[in-house]
Amino acid sequence: MIDIPHYINGARTLGETDRWGEIYNPALGTVVARVPMASRTDVERAVEAARSAFGTWSQTPLPARTRLLFRFREMLDQRRHELATIVTREHGKVLADAGGSIQRGLENVEYACGLGELLKGDYSAQIGQGIDSFSMRQPLGVCAGITPFNFPVMVPLWMFPLAIACGNTFVLKPSEKAPSAALFLAELLTAAGAPPGVLNVIHGDKIAVDSLLVDPRVSALSFVGSTPVAEYVYQTGSRHSKRVQALGGAKNHLVVLPDADLEQAADALVSAAYGSAGERCMAISVGVVVGDIADELVHRLREKISALTVGDGTADGTEMGPLISREHQKKVLGYVEQGLREGAHLVSDGRIASIAGDNNGFFVGPCLFDHAAPEMRIYREEIFGPVLILIRVASFAEAVTLVNGHEFGNGCALFTRDGDAAREFVRRVEVGMVGINVPLPVPMAFHSFGGWKRSLFGDTAMYGPEGVHFYTRLKTVTARWPTGIRAGVDLQFPTMK
Ligand code: NAD
Repeated sequence: MIDIPHYINGARTLGETDRWGEIYNPALGTVVARVPMASRTDVERAVEAARSAFGTWSQTPLPARTRLLFRFREMLDQRRHELATIVTREHGKVLADAGGSIQRGLENVEYACGLGELLKGDYSAQIGQGIDSFSMRQPLGVCAGITPFNFPVMVPLWMFPLAIACGNTFVLKPSEKAPSAALFLAELLTAAGAPPGVLNVIHGDKIAVDSLLVDPRVSALSFVGSTPVAEYVYQTGSRHSKRVQALGGAKNHLVVLPDADLEQAADALVSAAYGSAGERCMAISVGVVVGDIADELVHRLREKISALTVGDGTADGTEMGPLISREHQKKVLGYVEQGLREGAHLVSDGRIASIAGDNNGFFVGPCLFDHAAPEMRIYREEIFGPVLILIRVASFAEAVTLVNGHEFGNGCALFTRDGDAAREFVRRVEVGMVGINVPLPVPMAFHSFGGWKRSLFGDTAMYGPEGVHFYTRLKTVTARWPTGIRAGVDLQFPTMK
């Protein structure tokens, strides 16, 4: 049995806890490692390490900070296959899919390498006689990141490279279900030259998160996970005077207009619904079919679904892996039963799908429901599994109303050949990330990632320009040198003459 340690102040430690979590290989259903669940004292040690590293790190010249990121980027690139294997072993997603998510994470490191350009301040000369004004953005202090199981590399890379490049130090609390990748990243950053305490990793559950939420030494919190926890983290962190960005769950719609290329739309629906077994916050879980194309689309979807290979993500030819845990498998199967009780038509039944390899894994095959309705729980709630549901609507306006009526607003897509309809959709839809004939519109690292409504709590989206803004605070200086004009005593409110 392998123990996955915390990483505090540049060293591995198991901490002082007697609570342990089990890590599974979801494709086999077997325990492969244990992880210590941090006590409050363990978390306090990690925060203290980050606090004491901040003084020196925040004063380290910007080019030296970004050079660390350049070295880290090179090492990450060289070791990406190793990292993908870790992700597949603990999460279950197919190796190529894990590799794609590492690539998207790596792009955030590359963005952070260019911080010199992004952090340039503003300067206004001669705003008064002999007076200049300039502004700069400075680091916050200790920042913390709390991340979900489904992207053990990519989501941490949305956070700490930029935070650290900005001069902050960081405490990462990854998901206790897939913790090894975070340790790998922290040790790689140390090998790239990061001083002890700049990046710390603490494993655990609510106890660890709660300790971070109330610790006065933590200035900012970035959270990604489910909506109830995101809301709790946002409210509790804000109450303790922290800057918080908390990204939550999703129910992403893909609207197909009658003029769309149906083959392209069917491919997109299958890829975006079942990739990573639906365990992506940007997965498409609802197809909204406009007009009379539904029967033809369902026919194409059924054929494509029946050709999918489900199995161990490490095996050649596998397209879809298992779910993260036995508990989650039961939950997703429960939603399939729920959909049947609610009267939706189960066109493809993943409960009877054949699994290549070991049947003890946490598998659910791809499920497709047709004739779902907005009041059904399978429509309203996030299932986070390989369950795609279709809702048939009569018009474009009805489709937009449906999308906008949902509590989540993370991502969505429209498939059409009509530029006018696409433009109207982009303008009217109440969703943070929109794809036009692109099913998974995950923004590049030089834009920012964030949903609307109950998919994001806080003011700033994650990474990109909004990330730079989140991890820094503004300072504005108004300066006059003694050689300037001496105005004498003046009790009036200052105006520039
Ligand atoms: P989760 O909310 O269960 O866990 C996320 C993190 O919060 C983990 O580190 C976990 O240890 C911690 N946590 C769990 N329960 C807690 C509690 N009661 N109090 C304090 N901390 C707690 O989410 P998950 O199951 O790991 O991930 C799946 C969810 O994440 C889905 O809802 C998915 O949509 C969402 N997600 C969102 C995005 C996005 O960008 N919006 C990206 C990826 C995943």
